[in-house]
Formats: sequence, structure tokens, C-alpha cells
Amino acid sequence: MVDVLVFGPHPDDIEICAGGLVLVMRQRGYSVGGVDMTAGEAGTRGSRHTRLSESKAGAERLGLAFRECLGLPDGELEADRHARDLVIACIRRHRPRLVVAPISSDDHPDHSRTGKLVKEARFLAGCARIGPAGEPWRPGRVLFYPSRELMTPSLVVDISDVFEAKLHAVRAHTSQLHDPTSSEPPTHIASEEFLELIEASARYFGGLIGVRHGEAYSVDGPLAVQDPLPAVQGRGHVVFADAAPVGREPAP
Ligand SMILES: [Zn+2]
Repeated sequence: MVDVLVFGPHPDDIEICAGGLVLVMRQRGYSVGGVDMTAGEAGTRGSRHTRLSESKAGAERLGLAFRECLGLPDGELEADRHARDLVIACIRRHRPRLVVAPISSDDHPDHSRTGKLVKEARFLAGCARIGPAGEPWRPGRVLFYPSRELMTPSLVVDISDVFEAKLHAVRAHTSQLHDPTSSEPPTHIASEEFLELIEASARYFGGLIGVRHGEAYSVDGPLAVQDPLPAVQGRGHVVFADAAPVGREPAP
């Protein structure tokens, strides 16, 4: 059993898109597991072998309790019953409380289909007579992460304290990143500016909640909140000109 289960279509996606959340949850004592849908074997750079060793290094840097690969075909991932059953089995096996996956509006079909598969599997994993063998289990709502999409986040996680550790985990994917000595074809991730783009995104989303670095997530439904105050006290929202910030009124 694991607290959080993060799905990535390719071996570097968990680090790039949700590495901050993983590190924050680990800091808070939660266990986090990772699942790569594919081995990234069709990537423009690197090989199945190098990507496997890089995903192991990334998992160590993030402190993942485990990282497994479902072995679906890279670049040709289909949201079919076979893939859906693999994800259902995975959820039933690890019984996470929270599941994290790519947003389904992502341009890359492997990403959008992973989002769709995880959303369906989260629900169906709780239906005893559907899917492969295994005890039924339904996690809470899925947190969806963007990669390059414009999205209005449902929530932003403050990753300021772990941002450097996130970059360290991203750098485990050496074959995918900029290397002036490499003769492999250029890609978006291998551009010289890619790590700066990660920082720009984190600074932008962090700015929305008044912190240095943030990671954006969307949720496809309402979140249950017992005490709304902690959720609305983010510094980015305390901007009333003529009123004291919520919870910070001066003593009478
Ligand atoms: Zn990817």
C-alpha cells in the first residue's frame, strides 16, 4: 500500500511534471510510488537501456518507494481495454489514496491517453466485477498535471523548498537533456533553455499563490474541505486593500 501513485507516460515525465509534488509529499512522510506507462524506447534520443537506468536514478533522487514500467508501446500508447486493465491492476495492487496523471488535453497522444486511462481506471478499480483479478480499490480524485498546456490550475503546490531537488531529479535523464557533445537529433527537452523553462513555469505558478516556485494541478471535480481557511490563506490571495488579511487581523 502506498499513499500516492504517480503515473508518467515516459521515464522523465514524473520528474519534469510532478517531481516537486513527489518531494513535498515525501518530506511530509507520505510514501510515493511511480509508474511509467512506457519505457520511452521510441524517444528521439537515448535507448531503452539508457532510459531504464536514468529512470532508476530519477526514482532514487525523488525517493520513490518503487518505480515500475507497464511496458506499453512508446508513441503508440492506446487507451484500450488492455492498457486500462493494466492500470486498474496497478491501482488495486498498490491501493493509493491519491493518484496523479497527465492532463488529458496534453498535445502528446501518449500523455493525453495516459490521463484518460488513469481517470477511467481510478473509478473502475473500485468496481468488483470489472477488470482483472484483485481486491477493489478506489482512490480519491486524480490530480492532473500539465506539461506545455495553458491551464487554469485547481490548485498549486508550493515546491519552493524542494525546487533544486526537483531539478536534480530531472538531470538524472542525461540522454534527454542538452549536451553540447551529443550528436543525437535536437529535441525540445534537449534545448539549452529547457531547464530555464521548468523554472519559468514554476516561478509563474508559484507567483499565483505568492511563493517562489509552484507546480500546477487540475482536479476534475470538487474537493471536500472541512476547514476552508488553510486553503484560502495562500499569500497570493490576501490582497484586500482596505481589510486585514484573513486570519491576520491586528489585535483590538
Ligand atoms: Zn512524455
